[in-house]
Amino acid sequence: MKNAENFTRNEINNKHFIAVIGGSVSGSEAVNLLTDQNFRVVVFDMNELPYGKLEDGLPNWHHNLRDRQTTVINEKLSHKNVYFIPKTKIGRDITFDEIKNDWGFSSVILANGAWKDRDLSINNFNKFIDKGLIYQNALIYWFNHKHENNYKGPKYTMKNNAIVVGGGLASLDVMKIIMIELVQTAIKNKKGVALNMFYIEKKGIDAVLAEFNTNLEALEIEPPVLVYRRNAEDMPLKSPIDDTLENIEKAKVVSKKLLEKYLEKYMFKFIPTSTPIGYLEENDTFKGMVFQKMKSVNGKLIPTAETFELKSELLISSIGSIPEKIENLTYQGDSLKLKDQSEYSVYGYSNVFAIGNAVTGKGNIQESKQHGKQMTEKIISQHLTEDALEDWLMVYNKEITGQVKKNVVSIIEDIKNLKVPSEKVILAMESKIANLQKKVGYKDYESWIKEHTPIRIENME
Ligand SMILES: Cc1cc2nc3c(=O)[nH]c(=O)nc-3n(C[C@H](O)[C@H](O)[C@H](O)COP(=O)(O)OP(=O)(O)OC[C@H]3O[C@@H](n4cnc5c(N)ncnc54)[C@H](O)[C@@H]3O)c2cc1C
Repeated sequence: MKNAENFTRNEINNKHFIAVIGGSVSGSEAVNLLTDQNFRVVVFDMNELPYGKLEDGLPNWHHNLRDRQTTVINEKLSHKNVYFIPKTKIGRDITFDEIKNDWGFSSVILANGAWKDRDLSINNFNKFIDKGLIYQNALIYWFNHKHENNYKGPKYTMKNNAIVVGGGLASLDVMKIIMIELVQTAIKNKKGVALNMFYIEKKGIDAVLAEFNTNLEALEIEPPVLVYRRNAEDMPLKSPIDDTLENIEKAKVVSKKLLEKYLEKYMFKFIPTSTPIGYLEENDTFKGMVFQKMKSVNGKLIPTAETFELKSELLISSIGSIPEKIENLTYQGDSLKLKDQSEYSVYGYSNVFAIGNAVTGKGNIQESKQHGKQMTEKIISQHLTEDALEDWLMVYNKEITGQVKKNVVSIIEDIKNLKVPSEKVILAMESKIANLQKKVGYKDYESWIKEHTPIRIENME
């Protein structure tokens, strides 16, 4: 038996097991850095596939981007030092304290993203969930997976006169989903033509109607309305490259221009400076929303005395997501509480770290300078594309992995100083992993991904 002091750094690292909770963009980047130094990593993911927002947040007409980014995740998670445990949610299937105290991990890294829809915070309104009220994460999950044979999720029907409360890039995709669904159904019923979703998405509603020499009235479609609490130019569709007044103004111009392009191409309506404050109901049925007009004073939103009602049978809330709270972790508002002056050390624990914007709340969408710089180049080159969300996401995920890289390099320095687990602990760890993998029917990463990647709609249409 070799003496401990004769072990190489690599051999010592290999005795350390690190838990990573969430195997998507942030988690897989951490895995990559850890396995590069021969650490062993156990990746827990609540879903079958470790693709996070790429699989269930991004509408599937972005499938090329999804596939490019998930291929990278697969490369990182198929490393021989990785133990992937899918369909295992920390906080539900295993408690955080068990992971922290009973397994023998040298360190735990939280990369669980933002999976809880931000609440609309209107008293008692959530009683209408899936009965007139739909939150964004559930809507995109339905839209992305409803074509699958074994689909067991919620079933939705897009209705006329829908209201969408939002304003970010993701809410523009929600508007596209509603219009695509309504037009696809109407063209099928009235013209007998089954148009595929990708065709409508690419071509645009205006062009499809022209092609069929028809219009929304003739198709009896009443378009949805996007209601935003600020003005169009304040929408976070484009971030300024820096905080100079000139570039902030430039960003506002582009945001407004982008929205106009979407309004023109996807033919929905837009109401600015309005916030939902109440709802209308008849016989326990959702009948519409009450809004309050807002005014901006020195950038601060002030409610006015003016209110108005919008009659509707469907409201979709698209106001962003926040991290789901895990028991025995401390939160400050919506974000995980970190140790003072730390970008990643979790409050109340040693060797517990958090990575990825959604968890740390550090660096949200609007602050992505790099994104701002890219978009400006596009403006200058006049190649302003509609797919602002893809532009943003590519830059944003790059920023996330950049931040993760920076944090994990420091985290690794912390781990290196830790006591090496005993052979007994390592053996116990390996059997715990094997039991959990067996429980969910997991054999190896490659065959698991192959067996659990659903049929893709782009391969059906
Ligand atoms: C359409 C869209 C909307 C977006 N909206 C937001 C937003 O509102 N707010 C924001 O900050 N960022 C948002 N983003 C940005 C997004 O967070 C990043 O693009 C990127 O996905 C973050 O990667 P991640 O790995 O940190 O998190 P995710 O991609 O969210 O991955 C987290 C992973 O952790 C797993 N997981 C979660 N909880 C647990 C648990 N308890 N146990 C085990 N596994 C778990 C999930 O299954 C998932 O695989 C959005 C992105 C898109 C495409």
